[in-house]
Amino acid sequence: MLPIVNHPDYVAQIGDDHRFPINKFGALFQLLQQDKIIRTDNLFIPEPVSHADLLKVHKAEYIEKIDNLSLSKEEERKLGFPMVPSVKRRSYMATGGTVLAARLALQYQLACNTAGGSHHAFAGAGNGYCVFNDVAVAAHSLLAQKLVRRILIYDLDVHQGDGTAEIFKNHPQVYTCSIHAKKNYPAKKQQSNQDIELEEHLQDEAYLAIVEDSLQKLSKQSFDFVFYVAGVDVHEDDKLGALRITTNGIIKREQMVLSHFYQRKIPVCGVLGGGYNKSFEHLVYLHSILHRTCHHLIHHGT
Ligand SMILES: [Zn+2]
Repeated sequence: MLPIVNHPDYVAQIGDDHRFPINKFGALFQLLQQDKIIRTDNLFIPEPVSHADLLKVHKAEYIEKIDNLSLSKEEERKLGFPMVPSVKRRSYMATGGTVLAARLALQYQLACNTAGGSHHAFAGAGNGYCVFNDVAVAAHSLLAQKLVRRILIYDLDVHQGDGTAEIFKNHPQVYTCSIHAKKNYPAKKQQSNQDIELEEHLQDEAYLAIVEDSLQKLSKQSFDFVFYVAGVDVHEDDKLGALRITTNGIIKREQMVLSHFYQRKIPVCGVLGGGYNKSFEHLVYLHSILHRTCHHLIHHGT
């Protein structure tokens, strides 16, 4: 089966008119249930991430500010969320969700969170709708327990995984690869182990060739675990992304990426990443492609 991790607290109360489409997490859960990708036997409920796990990545002073809801106005502006109790709860739960999904991926080869991919969060600061860097926390958690030796963080969100790059700079056991639009946020990029910058308006064929090529090059290295940040803000109708990838292009991308690692028997933990499509309904569908593709691989092998 394909384990999928979800918690109702992924939906924080930030107001329905907020720029960030927070209700997509609840709608994604409903869609996956409706389409029987989530059933009772493969649904896993996370615990809030522990302080011990958070401290492997984040500075104590920063965690304290989140706990006390005491970010400055400027810090709150950079984060993009109002620092209210439900945002704090959501951040703890979504990070706990990726920690749990990573454990499940080791056991089942594929597992997904229905949130996560908060790649703009740095050790001491939140940025761009990211409070805690869930993937970094989960990676450190696996390493601390010696469950894996070398991790790939493969980030195909349209924005650079800048927080992740900075957190794992010079870390011998974690390799970060980010394929993102050069023009998009953040203006000041960090250095991943590998950054592939895409020109704006790039379309399916060229994009998929670049992804395929990167997978081939990465296969020359040895990894025993992959976090896949499956951002759908590469879509042509995304409000923030600068690329022109179609829905079919995203379907092909997920098939290419996930079957690549699945066939090599490397466990993959899939997380959502960003998505800000003009159509809310289509956005929810786009995010579900990750889970649908994993479901298909597990049940049909292709
Ligand atoms: Zn993004």
